[in-house]
Amino acid sequence: MAPNDRILSSLEGSPCNYCEEGILIREQFKGNSAVLCSQCGTPAIQSWEPE
Ligand SMILES: [Zn+2]
Repeated sequence: MAPNDRILSSLEGSPCNYCEEGILIREQFKGNSAVLCSQCGTPAIQSWEPE
């Protein structure tokens, strides 16, 4: 597992910093692995490094 995957996995399920009820979920965001809020869609982190 790549280091980025570990970071993303550790964030998954965390509460969103931008809204009250959101939970972070893993998604593809503009072609990159990212963790987005399930409520407001704000990306919490994004992996820019090529695998
Ligand atoms: Zn949110």
